[in-house]
Amino acid sequence: MLEDGPWRPAPIRPSPLTESAGLSLSRQMPDDRDAIAIVGGGPAGLAAAEVLGEAGCAVTVYERMPSVARKLLIAGRGGLNITHSEGRADFLARYHPRGVLDDAIAAFPPDALRDWCAELGEPTFVGSSGRVFPQSFKASPLLRAWLTRLGRLGVRIRTRHRLTGIAEGLRFETPDGSREIRPRATLLALGGASWPRLGSDGRWVPLLEGLGVAVSPLRPANAGFAVAWSDLFRDRFSGAPLKRVALACDGTTVRGEAVITEAGIEGGAIYALSRPLREAIAAEGSARLVVDLRPDLTREVLARRLSGARPGDSAATRLRKAAGLPAVAVGLLREAAGAALPADPAALAGLIKAAPLTLTASAPIERAISTAGGVRLDALDGRSMLRARPGLFLAGEMLDWEAPTGGYLLQGAFAGGRAAAAGMLDWLRETGG
Ligand SMILES: Cc1cc2nc3c(=O)[nH]c(=O)nc-3n(C[C@H](O)[C@H](O)[C@H](O)COP(=O)(O)OP(=O)(O)OC[C@H]3O[C@@H](n4cnc5c(N)ncnc54)[C@H](O)[C@@H]3O)c2cc1C
Repeated sequence: MLEDGPWRPAPIRPSPLTESAGLSLSRQMPDDRDAIAIVGGGPAGLAAAEVLGEAGCAVTVYERMPSVARKLLIAGRGGLNITHSEGRADFLARYHPRGVLDDAIAAFPPDALRDWCAELGEPTFVGSSGRVFPQSFKASPLLRAWLTRLGRLGVRIRTRHRLTGIAEGLRFETPDGSREIRPRATLLALGGASWPRLGSDGRWVPLLEGLGVAVSPLRPANAGFAVAWSDLFRDRFSGAPLKRVALACDGTTVRGEAVITEAGIEGGAIYALSRPLREAIAAEGSARLVVDLRPDLTREVLARRLSGARPGDSAATRLRKAAGLPAVAVGLLREAAGAALPADPAALAGLIKAAPLTLTASAPIERAISTAGGVRLDALDGRSMLRARPGLFLAGEMLDWEAPTGGYLLQGAFAGGRAAAAGMLDWLRETGG
């Protein structure tokens, strides 16, 4: 059982490989054939490159796009939420399956990530929701400083290199044609399949399945869901926020905000319920989302307030004055009721506290914030190395774990990338690297 408490930063230890033997791997491994390949230049791949570069390894990052870390940059558009400030037990409980990143995050906890940002000239602050952001809010200055640091460590970056084959070596398609390399060890950090125009498109799945590696289907996580709104509601309320609501599905309740969209509903509180909603749709064809539009008031208080309303008032006026509901919430009650709103105050209060919506499908993975599914965790050993393929390590969103928005995804990518690099250093030492 994990105890809650403050995080204790535990930076990755210097590699015993370089420490004990006084070796500089960059001197020993001068070319691609012998060096270490990291494929995928997102936060997980670059975090691994940093650890390996610091340990003296000759590291080359291969990236299919013309530049690295495009998803990190997009994440910075609305304010880069790099991690979260909540206590350890709550923080780790955000990841599914439970325990998946406990060790990695213990080795590189949120405070260590915040220190790392500060060292790169981007100090962070905790927002009112507990989320952590760089003071600049942006990702680009952080990425620029990071790439400079990686350059100083001798990490080479080869863009426009798409991994297309894994056999004896790695095959890449490049603007100059096909190219094969045979690195001493490889780390794949190819991301999921959301927002494919940023680079991660999930086309690595058959490559790994070809090696006999089990991959759970890639599915949208932190995505919106479809609701069959009436034309009237859709036209009037698309884009309207539902503030300070509580949403429930299958025994899990989340407080927060949601947004009505043309196709259905999305937003932070919906994303946090992505998994149970997605699983209910997969099992039953639809999911029941229960919306509490006034989570701070009991049903009894609401019923009392509603029965005291003026008899001549319309339902909308009663709901606005007595229950404090905005127009979008009143519209949502009508959608949930499917008919006229109940006249009885107790029944109406019950609907306000538990308005049922039927969600019929998840938004497509291309529009999701992140990806569920991926390489099954039992395909890896404790060092993030494929059991079926010694010397091939994996990290980041391409693995079969998921987490809600709130900084957990980036924290997981950073910590997981660093942990896989530490695992690789162990393996290199053990195998006489
Ligand atoms: C709009 C948006 C906003 C987000 N905001 C936040 C946020 O504020 N906080 C947060 O915690 N998370 C956020 N995320 C999620 C976060 O960005 C990702 O979880 C994180 O980037 C995953 O890191 P990764 O390194 O595993 O994968 P990626 O960042 O996807 O990197 C994988 C890299 O591999 C490359 N690649 C893929 N296939 C190949 C191939 N065959 N050959 C070579 N290279 C290849 C890709 O081009 C890519 O550069 C956001 C995501 C989106 C889409």
